[in-house]
Amino acid sequence: MGKGEQKGFSIKKSLEMFKEAKKLIPGGVQLLSRRPIRFAYGVSPIFAERAKGAYFWDIDGNKYLDITMAVNTAILGYCDPDVDKAAIEQIKKSTIFSTLHPIEVELAGEIVKVVPCAEMVRFGKSGGEADAVAIRIARGFTGLDKVVFCGYHGWHDWYIAANLESPDALNKHLLSNVPTKGVPKCLKGTAIPFEYNNLSSLKEVLEKNKKDVACVIMEPSKANLPKKGFLEGVKELTHKYDALLIFDEINTGFRLALGGAQEFYNVTPDMAVFGKDIANGYPLTAVAGRRDVMEASKEMFISSTFWDDNSTIAAGLACIRKIKEEKVVEHIWKMGERYMKGCKEIVRKLGIKAELKGLPCMTGMVFNYEDKSFVNQLNTLYCQELAKRGIFAGAYFPVSFAHKEEEIDKVLEAAERALSVVKKAIEQTSVKGYLEAEESKPLFSKRMV
Ligand code: PLP
Repeated sequence: MGKGEQKGFSIKKSLEMFKEAKKLIPGGVQLLSRRPIRFAYGVSPIFAERAKGAYFWDIDGNKYLDITMAVNTAILGYCDPDVDKAAIEQIKKSTIFSTLHPIEVELAGEIVKVVPCAEMVRFGKSGGEADAVAIRIARGFTGLDKVVFCGYHGWHDWYIAANLESPDALNKHLLSNVPTKGVPKCLKGTAIPFEYNNLSSLKEVLEKNKKDVACVIMEPSKANLPKKGFLEGVKELTHKYDALLIFDEINTGFRLALGGAQEFYNVTPDMAVFGKDIANGYPLTAVAGRRDVMEASKEMFISSTFWDDNSTIAAGLACIRKIKEEKVVEHIWKMGERYMKGCKEIVRKLGIKAELKGLPCMTGMVFNYEDKSFVNQLNTLYCQELAKRGIFAGAYFPVSFAHKEEEIDKVLEAAERALSVVKKAIEQTSVKGYLEAEESKPLFSKRMV
């Protein structure tokens, strides 16, 4: 047993349950990012039982400090008492009605107050769906069909259609070799990517598709940050070609700043889409934007039964208010800085080729070795060694309000031990001898999970 490992650690029940899941649910999962093979399959937990703050317990009874936070959906930490109280109070009054309920108007008002581009708001349930709503509005407003994009924007036809033109169109934005099975072939040529931090690539696409482009949709920043003038340049070019600019702020919203990346980078788009951090884990998303653009949606068919269910809206209201009142953005930046600084120091001390990417409020460690499959193995090994020490880690760390100094220091202590094992594997140029988990597989190989 290595230093800091949990005694009697086992995930037997998780593994058995996953066998059952695969019999009943295609692939065993709903969200591809939750596929066990993305972590350390065989070692890291697969089924959770409950969670609180920055921690969760798996069905085998193991406790983990979580630095994945349900793919960035719990900015306040799991089961935040104020958000849960607001949702439960609303459930007691009924979450759904035959009529409207005032809190919907209240939440729209809060979003308009804090988000620079927001003059009107629509609500939804999932990110991909909210992106699809924004695209429908942009197409309806401009009367044009084509969409130029940069980043990840969900599973819907309009986006996956990019790979109909060229099977690698989505490689830099989503994953390699995303299949187009099930996507109507007639959408070929309607979604066109451009390269992040490359204004010439955007100009080229806009010029080539002149007078056909309804909008440019993009993630304002992710692991890579915008070069000086890039986002301003995107806005200028987009408007020059009479298209609308949409920021997909599903990851950045309420996290980089309360008003999202648009406030942080001081570039206001025409529309923006919010998701993950809006209601601390309750399924709520929002499309916000310029009044004239949003008003145009009244002439389009955009409608769904559960979009205004009120328990999630109550959760959203409580979440945004708490982010504001408790200075949550400042907290997550400060804790993220502590984590980044600590990790950088460990990596330097051990002499591992790795860097911390992104911003402190949402950062990730990347191993810098040429051989991709070697990097894949290192990721699995690191994840495995952290899991054995009670830390659940994924590709990046969206810091939450529940991660205090104590949690960050625990992560750093485990990271140092886990990276010491990684270092030994690197020195021996053989990770396999250290892997107890199954090496993570590329998503669209034959065996997906
Ligand atoms: N857009 C961005 C930037 C995302 O990060 C995600 C999800 O990770 C989506 C869209 C899709 O959201 P959902 O998984 O809720 O459909």
